[in-house]
Amino acid sequence: MNISIVGSGYVGIVTGIGFAEMGNNVIFVDVDPGKIEIINKKEPPIFEKGLKELMKKNKEAYYATDNYIDAILNSDITFICVGTPSNPDGSIDLSQVMGAAKSVAEVLAKKDDFHVVAVKSTVVPGTTEEVIIPTLEKHSKKGAFVDFGVAVTPEFLREGEAVDDFFNPDRVVIGSEDERTRKILDELHSPFKCPKLFVDLKTAEMIKYASNAFLATKISFANEIGNICKKLGIDSYKVFEGVGLDHRINPSFFRAGLGFGGSCFPKDVKALIAKAERLGYNPKLLKTVLEINDMQPAMMIDLLKKHLGNLSDKRIGLLGLTFKPDTDDIRESRAIILVKQLLKENAKVFAYDPVAIEKFKRLYSDVEYASSAQELVDNVDAVLIVTEWREFENVDYRGKIVIDGRRILKAREAKVYEGLCW
Ligand code: NAD
Repeated sequence: MNISIVGSGYVGIVTGIGFAEMGNNVIFVDVDPGKIEIINKKEPPIFEKGLKELMKKNKEAYYATDNYIDAILNSDITFICVGTPSNPDGSIDLSQVMGAAKSVAEVLAKKDDFHVVAVKSTVVPGTTEEVIIPTLEKHSKKGAFVDFGVAVTPEFLREGEAVDDFFNPDRVVIGSEDERTRKILDELHSPFKCPKLFVDLKTAEMIKYASNAFLATKISFANEIGNICKKLGIDSYKVFEGVGLDHRINPSFFRAGLGFGGSCFPKDVKALIAKAERLGYNPKLLKTVLEINDMQPAMMIDLLKKHLGNLSDKRIGLLGLTFKPDTDDIRESRAIILVKQLLKENAKVFAYDPVAIEKFKRLYSDVEYASSAQELVDNVDAVLIVTEWREFENVDYRGKIVIDGRRILKAREAKVYEGLCW
C-alpha cells in the first residue's frame, strides 16, 4: 500500500520504516526541514536500536517532504503522528494535530479517490469526533465516512524497544466507524499475528489512555511500597519478585525508584485528569499517581543530604540524563528535575549520558559534562544514578558515595551506597 506519515518523530519514523519493511511505500511529511534532510540522507532522526539498519535496507521505499499535496495525493492512508504535548494546565495541546488535520484536509479537497486518515497521535477520548473530523470536513468540504475514512490507531511502542515493538505488538487497536476504513486498515495490519481489536473511535482513544494510566499507576504503586520498604529496611525488589509471581499481577513495571518520565506517561495522565475534571469527575487515584512520582526525586536529594549535608559547592555527578535507557529522549526526564534542584542549592553539577549530552546541553549549559561514566564517578563528591544504562554496571564505584535511583548492582561496592527504595 501507499502510506503517508504526518510527523516524523519517535512514533512517525518507526511506524513508517516498519511499514516500509513490510513492503509498503512510505512518504514522510514534516514541518522540520532538518528532519526531512536527515531522513532523505537515509539516516535516523532519533536514536533507536535497529532503526538505522532498517532505513538503509529499505532506502528505496520511502522519502520525506514538507509537501502535503505530494504526500496525500500519492498515498491511500495517512497516519497522523504529530506531538500532543501538555498545556500549562495539564490539558492536551492539540495545535499540532489541528495543523496537520487542516493541511491533510486541504489536499483531500482536491482528491477524488477514497483516502483514510488514521490518528496515531495520543488524543483524549472524544477528540477525533469532536475536533479532528470537524476540521477535516471543514477544510476538505467533504464528509467523513463517505468521502474519506477516519480511524484511530493508537500506538503502544516503548522507546528503546520501538522497532521490536512495531513488529511484535501485543495487540493492534483499530477504532473506526465505517466498514470500508476498517477493511483497509485490517488489510494493512494483516501481517501482524497478535489480537486485533476493532472498536469505535473514542474507545480506541481511551484504550491508549487507560493503558498508560495503568502502567504509571503500577510504577507509583511500586514506589509507594518501595518507600515504605526503605523505612523498614526491606529490599522492595525481593518483595516485588514475590508479588510479580502471582499470575494475576505480572512482574513487569515493578522497578521501584526515581519514577517515570518521558514524553508519554506524565502528559497522558495529566491530560486524562484534565479531561475527567472537565466532565465533572475528580480522578483521585490518577492525581496521587503523579504526586508520588513527583516525590521520588525529592527523596533522592534528601538521601544525598543525609550523607553530604549542605550541597553548596559540592560536586554532584548524575549518571544518566535520558528518561530511560536505549533512547536519546530527555523529555520529562528525572535528570531535569534533579539538576534544577541541585543548581538551586548551589551544588556543582557534573553529568554523563552515553547519547543525550548534546540534547541536554541545549537545556543546561551551566552543567559540566563528563566524557565517560568513570570520569564522572572519579571527579565528584557523590553520584546519583538516574538512568539504568547497562554500561553503568561496568564502572568502578569503590570509595564513593552513591545514591541509586535505578538499581545498578555494581554500585553496591561504593563506600556509601543508598538505594532509593531498597
Ligand atoms: P515527536 O515530538 O517526536 O514528533 C512529532 C513530529 O511531528 C515532529 O517531527 C514535528 O516536527 C512534527 N510536526 C508537528 N506539526 C506538524 C505538522 N503540522 N505537519 C507535519 N509534521 C508536524 O512526537 P512523538 O514522541 O513521536 O509522539 C507523537 C505522538 O505519539 C504523540 O501524541 C505521543 O503522545 C504519541 N506516542 C508517543 C510514544 C513515544 O514513545 N514517543 C508512544 C506512543 C504514542
